[in-house]
Amino acid sequence: MPVPVPPEIVCVDCGGRCHLLSHAPEDGFEPGDVTAYRCSECLDRWDLVVADPAEDDLA
Ligand SMILES: [Zn+2]
Repeated sequence: MPVPVPPEIVCVDCGGRCHLLSHAPEDGFEPGDVTAYRCSECLDRWDLVVADPAEDDLA
């Protein structure tokens, strides 16, 4: 099941906006895939593992 991935996230370090570097596969991202973001403020790179939405439901 493809999982929706946000096109940008908030930088943990500086509060700036991090833009998605990774291109979604044809079938979309799957849980366990790694997405990379680059902060437009401090230029830090963030690698995030795509979470499984089914696990979020259990929390
Ligand atoms: Zn930043």
